[in-house]
Amino acid sequence: MAQEDIFKKLVAHSKEYGFVFQSSEIYDGLGAVYDYGQNGVELKNNIKKYWWDSMVLLHENVVGIDSAIFMHPTIWKASGHVDAFNDPLIDNKDSKKRYRADVLIEEQLAKYEEKIDKEISKAADRFGDAFNEKQFRETNPRVLANQEKIDILHERFTKALNDNDLIELKQIIIDEGIVCPISGSRNWTDVRQFNLMFSTEMGSTAEGASKIFLRPETAQGIFVNYLNVQKTGRMKIPFGIAQIGKAFRNEIVARQFIFRMREFEQMEMQFFVKPGSELDWFAKWKETRMKWHRALGFGDDNYRFHEHEKLAHYANAAVDIEYKFPFGFKEVEGIHSRTDFDLSQHQEYSGKKIQYFDPELNESYVPYVVETSIGVDRMFLQVLSASYCEEQLEKDSRVVLKIPPVLAPVKLAVMPLVKKDGLPEISRQIIDDLKFDFYCQYDEKDSIGKRYRRQDAIGTPFCVTVDHQTTQDNTVTIRYRDTMEQERVAISEIGKIIGKQVSLKDFLK
Ligand code: ATP
Repeated sequence: MAQEDIFKKLVAHSKEYGFVFQSSEIYDGLGAVYDYGQNGVELKNNIKKYWWDSMVLLHENVVGIDSAIFMHPTIWKASGHVDAFNDPLIDNKDSKKRYRADVLIEEQLAKYEEKIDKEISKAADRFGDAFNEKQFRETNPRVLANQEKIDILHERFTKALNDNDLIELKQIIIDEGIVCPISGSRNWTDVRQFNLMFSTEMGSTAEGASKIFLRPETAQGIFVNYLNVQKTGRMKIPFGIAQIGKAFRNEIVARQFIFRMREFEQMEMQFFVKPGSELDWFAKWKETRMKWHRALGFGDDNYRFHEHEKLAHYANAAVDIEYKFPFGFKEVEGIHSRTDFDLSQHQEYSGKKIQYFDPELNESYVPYVVETSIGVDRMFLQVLSASYCEEQLEKDSRVVLKIPPVLAPVKLAVMPLVKKDGLPEISRQIIDDLKFDFYCQYDEKDSIGKRYRRQDAIGTPFCVTVDHQTTQDNTVTIRYRDTMEQERVAISEIGKIIGKQVSLKDFLK
């Protein structure tokens, strides 16, 4: 099945099974804003816990905070967001559709890469075991021609971005013959800058109100609390501050479901280090974060690092972790070496000294910062994309979400074979005994087969069926989601069997 079709099915499945709903749906929705349903919120909470525990619980020198969304407006002046948090936008005059100029060019680069990949996979099929990919890449004329196109375009694109040259960005789009996917035309407007911050007013009277922004990242809430946390927590450098919270960006093009939203959630950690040591820490966090992703078992080849074409105004090194979504490799997390830019700016704009006295060096300095920043919603989409499977079985087929058990919304479903003979009561008792440890669901409606399918569709890793034999010997059938194997176990064993598989503690260890 084409990857786009899989993605469409995934979106429909998310709605049908209570993971993600369009915001304000009964009023025809609100663009690029989504609500999480009864299963979605559980998965989201589990993702957040996986992140929080691995960052805060397991690192003695990382602590958390929860700062307000509203902040003093000068913060966004100091951080550079008022002047520079822009995306270059371009409109197609025929379809009236709006695009990000940089994204159009990135997609063009991806097209050339796809062409190379196709040549390689064709050749790999043809030559079998004898295939030498390195040699093929270095000698095949079609691969070389496409690689040259990539290199030339990449260099031109990077220069245009770094020079903030909007005329050149448009020229690249024209020269590359990039067409609007809707109208198919090359009738483009000029490229313009567009600030992504939402603003609102605080204060009760029009005269007394002041314009404030909805934060476009959670990081600034950490920077402005650096001194508070360092002093009250008696933190010694190097140390980190972690935060999970909402962020808002008035994205120009909001497509691809929850990949690009106007209201989303971030999990960010700012790690404060001694000046000069930041690139070592950058390398360390890069590896640590990649391990965190790969530990979920979605396939190491589905991740890659992507170096930034253009460094943000505050960074001296930056890399993205990309995951292979059904619509291609895309950023899930950014790791940035932010230098002392943010703290120095806040020091200047606030007039307060924001420094660290290093007892070893016997001197004060403005710490450097390495940031890890991941979107909860993109991570959610990664988990769904990786887990969604359509399986052909002997007699029928099933859709199953093979979500890692630690993240699965519901861990256990308990099902009485029939709604009588005391079986519902035993089922309820099992749930009552286990519900403090993990999320259990009771289900007595329809045939057992249908009930299994329903649980497969939401990714429940374990189902327990209570039947008449249970009343005799206190055993039940436990059925495993991925293998669909069933075995007979004692009721007293259920907690242990499941507990081990869904325990974040065991997983993190
Ligand atoms: P992009 O290039 O895709 O716009 P970005 O580089 O601007 O992303 P960052 O500012 O580095 O993103 O934000 C850190 C993380 O926050 C991203 O890796 C992503 O997971 C998440 N994120 C950013 N923007 C959005 C959005 N509009 N919707 C959902 N998640 C987002």
